[in-house]
Amino acid sequence: MARLVCISNRLPMEAGPAGGLVVALSAALAESGGTWVGWSGATAATPSPALAPIDGGPFGRLAFDLTEAEVAGYYMGYANSVLWPILHSRADLMRIAHDELAVYKAVNRRLARMVLDVIAADDLLWVHDFHLLPLAWELRALGARNRVGLFLHTPFAAPHDMAALPNAGEVAEWLACHDLVGLQTEADVARARASLAAVAAARPGAGGQVVIGRRATRIAAFPVAIDVGEFAALAGAEYRRLPPGLVRPDRALMIGVDRLDYTKGLPQRFRALAAFLEAHEDWQGHVSLLQIAPPTREGLAAYDAIRDETEALAGHINGRFADITWSPLRYIHRPVARERLAGLHRAARAALVTPLMDGMNLVAKEYVAAQDAADPGVLVLSQFAGAAEQMADALLVNPHDIEQVAGAIHVALSMPVRDRRRRHERLFAGLLARDVHWWSAAFLGTLRGPRPEPPPA
Ligand code: ADP
Repeated sequence: MARLVCISNRLPMEAGPAGGLVVALSAALAESGGTWVGWSGATAATPSPALAPIDGGPFGRLAFDLTEAEVAGYYMGYANSVLWPILHSRADLMRIAHDELAVYKAVNRRLARMVLDVIAADDLLWVHDFHLLPLAWELRALGARNRVGLFLHTPFAAPHDMAALPNAGEVAEWLACHDLVGLQTEADVARARASLAAVAAARPGAGGQVVIGRRATRIAAFPVAIDVGEFAALAGAEYRRLPPGLVRPDRALMIGVDRLDYTKGLPQRFRALAAFLEAHEDWQGHVSLLQIAPPTREGLAAYDAIRDETEALAGHINGRFADITWSPLRYIHRPVARERLAGLHRAARAALVTPLMDGMNLVAKEYVAAQDAADPGVLVLSQFAGAAEQMADALLVNPHDIEQVAGAIHVALSMPVRDRRRRHERLFAGLLARDVHWWSAAFLGTLRGPRPEPPPA
């Protein structure tokens, strides 16, 4: 079998318990004797000229360092200040700087050269996410003919948003250099087709291919998933280790787990909690939301603003509703160990997963996997999370509609066990049918299949 080479912005450096993507790719990499290439997370005074091997772990790892200027232009700049907001329908938060776009391209060009030095002609390349959109274009320019697949973990931008990019046509050309572009949902595939048609005159080719200029690519949905058995086992074991007093029959626990990002809808969620407590006084003193939201991308204005806004709201809500023995909202700004999170999910009567826009949202799947099937909690899920396409048995909500979310909280907390079991059973079966092993096998199976054919000259 051809060797698999995964390339992502960050290389997993720890040998310890792994999250989403690492679990997803470890098995596939170990199976093919593969290698993972990514940024070490460290900065160096000068750009690294070659990839450096990292010892240990079940698969090969090759790391590169970035300079401070590269982190500013490539990572914090074009990737997180232009692409991330655009891909999440937030053109208003985009901060275009053409010199940062140049740095983003230069980092991808350097990475392409370093990758070319370590790959064989028949290696299969799997590129991950919006940090590395031009990598395949750069590899093709250097003569690489390998099969290259891209998986985009975010949503795909709608035509109106895509048009707001400073270089929409160029992004379309980058995408066309892949044999396969994997997206999270069928809605993303439809948006991609429409956006690429709008900005780059993309047209349908044979067998559902998308043709852009002289190149053809395939675009298909592969909803990213979790290792259900692993997370369920973790939850069962860790539930027993939770601090005494956390689970009380007279105090229902609700949970929210998100990076502190403006896409996650935290202010709307907090307002919905307040609206619920106001409408249902009998629940005051008997339910609280544990919101775990570690800061990310600190230093970018949009992230500083969401932190200020959520902190102010949390203070306001606690000030208004708390009494001397109870507060409605516990807001934690630190990362929590994965196993502890699993235990907390199992203890929670409801999870509030209410992003304004999200590629998939693995937390929704983790919450369902963590439940006790005999007495499961209820998932309140935004219709704008990619996960909603597969999880119709959650309580689906419009996160902008505060009254509706408040109503869903009430339904979740009051739901009879028979209904909870019925919903959970279907959700859990869905997770098992398409777990993380299905995900990587489906993507790689398609990438190994027939290559897209360029249009006749
Ligand atoms: P995103 O990729 O936008 O952060 P996802 O929900 O798809 O959102 O994935 C987040 C992953 O990170 C999940 O596996 C989740 O368990 C983990 N995670 C999120 N918040 C925390 C936290 N506070 N502490 C530890 N892990 C977290």
